[in-house]
Amino acid sequence: MQNMKVLISGASIAGPALAYWLDRYGCDVTVVEKAPALRTGGQAVDFKGVTHRTVLARMGILEEVRRRQTGGSDQVIVDANGRRLAVMPGEFTGGEIEIPRGDLAALLFERTAHTCEYVFGDSISSLIQTGDGVRVTFERAAPRTFDLVVGADGIHSNVRRLAFGPEEAYVRFLGHYYALAQIDAGEGGQMYNEPGRMVALGGPKAPSFFVFASEPLDYDRYDVEQQRRILLDAYRGGGWRIPEVLAKVAQAPDVYLDSISRVELDRYAEGRVVLLGDAAYGNTLGGFGTGLAVVGAYVLAGELAAARGDHRAGFAGYESAFRGYAKVARQGSAGPFLAPGTRARITMRNWVFKRRLLLRGMLRMTDRFATDIELKDY
Ligand SMILES: Cc1cc2nc3c(=O)[nH]c(=O)nc-3n(C[C@H](O)[C@H](O)[C@H](O)COP(=O)(O)OP(=O)(O)OC[C@H]3O[C@@H](n4cnc5c(N)ncnc54)[C@H](O)[C@@H]3O)c2cc1C
Repeated sequence: MQNMKVLISGASIAGPALAYWLDRYGCDVTVVEKAPALRTGGQAVDFKGVTHRTVLARMGILEEVRRRQTGGSDQVIVDANGRRLAVMPGEFTGGEIEIPRGDLAALLFERTAHTCEYVFGDSISSLIQTGDGVRVTFERAAPRTFDLVVGADGIHSNVRRLAFGPEEAYVRFLGHYYALAQIDAGEGGQMYNEPGRMVALGGPKAPSFFVFASEPLDYDRYDVEQQRRILLDAYRGGGWRIPEVLAKVAQAPDVYLDSISRVELDRYAEGRVVLLGDAAYGNTLGGFGTGLAVVGAYVLAGELAAARGDHRAGFAGYESAFRGYAKVARQGSAGPFLAPGTRARITMRNWVFKRRLLLRGMLRMTDRFATDIELKDY
């Protein structure tokens, strides 16, 4: 694949992980990222099982990831009076190796920044596929031609919209929203539920984290004030520490709100354009997104290399080697688990965390999903 020119959209996890492998196989890699600089935010993400560990080891970053790991901590589920009802153990919320998303993105960026070209603060505005390349125009930079274009730009992928069609056809809303607000909620890792809504404070993942059931909402994803109002409305009248938390949310410098949604695509490639990570198989808060992104990057680059850069054979290899593994992202939704709709369901969910055997069974099942692929040694 010497000197093959590849453009990757998105510099979070999937994008830089793929950049690492393609650079190793000899490609000329450019990564374009919409944000003005590497995004440092996000909760902790996690890796589980031997497959994830093997890929990190083959990238030479397993020890560094381990060094930066946060170590899962327990989350205490409380009632309206703050009394302890159950404990969600760290190993359940934090997988085997938990690391802040921003730290992982920075680590992957550091490993690729000196050999790959990174363009921040720009975005692809059009893609025109010709017989021997893809003509790309950007919002800011001059047009360029690449051999291949990869959409690693998340669940609301721009490349998917341009190459496959509008988001509504591929992203299914699963009935809940989640939000993060930058507030000082104290230490402690507590979680509180009312039917259809959950708030977690000072937890292992984020200082404040909200999940609530809702009809689809019409709002601007870049309008923080509108998202703040939606969040305040969704929690009005809540018990426990919710009134105090809402007063802080009203003043918070940053509020982020998004739907819990799942990507449903019947193919990952369209000509010379291919999707990777959440853009192709995202399932918000499903717990597998980061592992799928890193293993997906390994398989996509490996299959392309095995096909000596023939994108038709390489993409077909990626599709057939990976689709079965990514099926875990087609299942389930974190919404009803984190914010059950009735008191009875909240009680049942809490009960699971009091049964060690049941919990162990759930962890074993998670491990099975995370290792359900035979990794080739490309
Ligand atoms: C800021 C942030 C916070 C997150 N927080 C969490 C979290 O707390 N918990 C969790 O489980 N997962 C979180 N995620 C998602 C998690 O990173 C992914 O599920 C998983 O790691 C797969 O990553 P990905 O690289 O495929 O997609 P993502 O991590 O979603 O990255 C997509 C990247 O593409 C960029 N992008 C978007 N549009 C364009 C465009 N038009 N042009 C160029 N670039 C574009 C985005 O800025 C982002 O850097 C977060 C993602 C981001 C970006």
